[in-house]
Amino acid sequence: MPHELPKAYEPGAIENRWAQYWVAEKLFSVKTPAPGDTTPVFTLLLPPPNVTGRLHMGHMLNQTEMDIIMRWHRMRGFLTLWLPGTDHAGIATQMMVERQLASEGIKRRDLGREKFIERTWAWRKQYGGAILDQMKRLGASVDWDREYFTMDDNLSACVREVFVRLYEDGLIYRGKYIVNWCPRCITAISDLETIHEDVAGKLYEIKYPVVGTGEFITVATTRPETMLGDTAVAVNAADERYKHLHGKKVRLPLMNREIPIIVDELAKPEFGTGAVKVTPAHDPNDFEAGLRHDLPQISVMDEVGRMNENAGPYAGHDRFEAREKVLHDLEAQGLLAKVKDYTIPIGKCDRCKTIVEPRLSTQWFVAVNKEPKRGGLSMAQAAADVVRKEYIRFTPENYRAIYLNWMDNIHDWCVSRQLWWGHRIPAWHCAKCGEIIVAREAPAKCGKCGSAELEQDPDVLDTWFSSALLPFTTLGWPEATRDLGAFYPTSLLITGFDILFFWVARMIMMGCHFMAPPHRPEGLSSDARVGTGLRPVQADSESRQHASDEALRESVPYREVYIHALVRDAERQKMSKTKGNVLDPIEVIEKYGTDATRFTLAAMASPGTDIAFNESRTEGYRAFANKIWNAARFMFMNVDRAAEAGAWSLEESAKKPIKRSIGLDGFEPQTLDDRWILSRFNRVAQDVHEALSSYRFHEAAHVIYNFFWGEFCDWYLELIKPRLSAFEGPAKQSAAATCANLVTLFEASLRLLSPIMPFITEEIWQAVYNGKPPLKSIALSVYPQADPAQVDVAAETEMAILQDLIVAVRNIRADLKIEPRQAAPAQIHADAATRAIIEQNAGALQRLANVDKYEFVEESLAKAAGARTTARFDVRVLYERKVDAAAECDRLNKELQRIEKEIGNAQRQLGNEQFLAKAPANVVDGIRKRAQELDTMLEKTRSAMAELGCAK
Ligand SMILES: [Zn+2]
Ligand SMILES: [Zn+2]
Repeated sequence: MPHELPKAYEPGAIENRWAQYWVAEKLFSVKTPAPGDTTPVFTLLLPPPNVTGRLHMGHMLNQTEMDIIMRWHRMRGFLTLWLPGTDHAGIATQMMVERQLASEGIKRRDLGREKFIERTWAWRKQYGGAILDQMKRLGASVDWDREYFTMDDNLSACVREVFVRLYEDGLIYRGKYIVNWCPRCITAISDLETIHEDVAGKLYEIKYPVVGTGEFITVATTRPETMLGDTAVAVNAADERYKHLHGKKVRLPLMNREIPIIVDELAKPEFGTGAVKVTPAHDPNDFEAGLRHDLPQISVMDEVGRMNENAGPYAGHDRFEAREKVLHDLEAQGLLAKVKDYTIPIGKCDRCKTIVEPRLSTQWFVAVNKEPKRGGLSMAQAAADVVRKEYIRFTPENYRAIYLNWMDNIHDWCVSRQLWWGHRIPAWHCAKCGEIIVAREAPAKCGKCGSAELEQDPDVLDTWFSSALLPFTTLGWPEATRDLGAFYPTSLLITGFDILFFWVARMIMMGCHFMAPPHRPEGLSSDARVGTGLRPVQADSESRQHASDEALRESVPYREVYIHALVRDAERQKMSKTKGNVLDPIEVIEKYGTDATRFTLAAMASPGTDIAFNESRTEGYRAFANKIWNAARFMFMNVDRAAEAGAWSLEESAKKPIKRSIGLDGFEPQTLDDRWILSRFNRVAQDVHEALSSYRFHEAAHVIYNFFWGEFCDWYLELIKPRLSAFEGPAKQSAAATCANLVTLFEASLRLLSPIMPFITEEIWQAVYNGKPPLKSIALSVYPQADPAQVDVAAETEMAILQDLIVAVRNIRADLKIEPRQAAPAQIHADAATRAIIEQNAGALQRLANVDKYEFVEESLAKAAGARTTARFDVRVLYERKVDAAAECDRLNKELQRIEKEIGNAQRQLGNEQFLAKAPANVVDGIRKRAQELDTMLEKTRSAMAELGCAK
């Protein structure tokens, strides 16, 4: 039965079909290993996309890299678990639903919390799966049976459990704090969610009268409305100008309050007037100074950025309106000393671009620098230690220092958000006595006063709080499940730099805290798996340190972190909606296929380098896929013909199971080309292994590309052609062997390429077995591993000579403009060993370089016309062109004029000082190079004319 492979390579149809097949067949579902199973494990947690998400190029890169690594490990025999899920994405989702409600004329607050949350769940049900569907289309080899959502019941229970345990350990507290506040989203946002930018603004100098002196102190501010909440003026101890005012008071203009002049380092003598107003409730630095001097904290704004009752006559005005009014009134009283243009650093809400307001509010915090009550390291300390001790390694390595620097200077983590969508904080406030009860489930009554009037805290937790727990909560924590024992610590995390602190750092803190004793589930069994599981704790003190190191080592959420680069546009610009240069990966996929898109990203993903995504590259890799397709069709056509001629039986080869992963099993080299390709295959397998082991995806892609196209298609297939189609007499034997080798090699090469291009390789691989593959998918087959014994240096050297010779003859023929079909004789000068190699492969030389006959000559050909010289041989092509001399002279003459004109232009430019001064260096360089080329061309044309005897 002949092989069936459609004539044209159409990625769309193939890819959709296999993507669905992989999901339907549950090919990537992983069962919990049985006790005693020692199969090595490789686990990776998918950074959960937001439910609101749509696939962008960054995801596509991330997913491609993850999928390559996972497919590669699976094929290498690892029990490979890739855990997918989505994040509830607090603010993002809430805003999406608010927008939907707004279009119906409904406000969130009018709807009420319960109804709003119902609406959000409904929204999630309808739209939340979109991004995972896109992932399925990409062929991501994740375990769909384990798909989670961060607000699933079991994961929510874990969130409460973690919160309560942290609270019991003294690591959760409530505190007043200056937070970045978005008056539009009505929530605290973290510094990481704030966009910092500099804008043109004004600096206002305001005079404060010093009580009982008739003097004024002038302070400067960019936010004059906050003066209404001032509770001091600070001067520097070293500032001579104000020494006589220490201990005195000023009368706060407009508010008519007396406030002290304090001495504090907040005031810098060299900056402005050297005196600063202190507003503890509206500025983080002032807040700290206020704590140092025990100043009152007067908040003058409400949650939506409107002035409140503490703002006296300005109450009820929006903050920016109030600013104008305050300035107007100060000016009227002669207290506005100066207004200067000034560049102001402002913060904007990452979500809605509203200017954030530093605001004093009561929030929940995780004390990351504090030792837990039960003993042990602070969360930040443990998270720094595991990286210092290299229990977690970063690639590229520079992220290690960035991470450690951040962890060493970390502040407490504000984990409450004033949102409705998310994990509600498991704390209840007693309406009667004010007691706060933190508990896993709603308490019936207050433990202090017995009142049943309890209300749950309205805030929800920062989205990153729950996602920081995923490496262990998705595996069954706090139970000592077999999954947790088998798959934790996970092996690798692949993610972007943008969430290094949001997520990666917090996962490490949480993992090290909850997966080390005393929180690590007791009796967690880890079988005999390499690298997982705690060793039993020894009693003696010497091994106690070792045991605690070991505990720390096994508590990490992952052993390696690979930080991938950014995908930029072809001009290296960041993709952004405003610039309109955002590439939709799905559109690229529809145009060129997933395989070509994946290959582009892999080929450009050198660690630490941003990717300038260029569709022309993708077009090139689609051509690569096409080349493989055509090679497959060529192979099938030939083996089918051989089968028809009785020289080959497909059934025979298809019966051969893929059992060995080292080297190319079943490939029996007969000729130089066989020996050479076998050697190359093993080298390539080794190179790919080394590249993928250190996340050098680009190298793996290039090595495979060059092998498949440059060596397999361009050389090997050409070299074996005659052997494939000769079936008479002894040739029949040779055809059979050649078919067997070809199929074996092609099948193995498909496996080599499969992690990067899973679809086309699956399609062809299945066709190799004519619908009866030994396994359900190429993804379950074995990854080729190099066998050093199959590397054949002699074959590579010999083949290099043959290739050089063929290429040299082709080049000479091109120079002499010999018609492709026209055969020409050649002379070769070489030593005896080289001669022997050439003679043995004379057929290849004649066919691939169109040499009809050749002779070896004793004398060197280095100076002969129409010759090429290499270290191992000289070769000359003998060719007399029968030409119409007059017409050729005419053509050469025109050519000469064109060259001379271009030389004139180039010389003019290179002689123009002004031009040279202004033009970019590479342009000038280009012209110089061109001028050199033109000189050579001029010379060649002149000598050709002289040879023909053209009249000038
Ligand atoms: Zn906002
Ligand atoms: Zn109470």
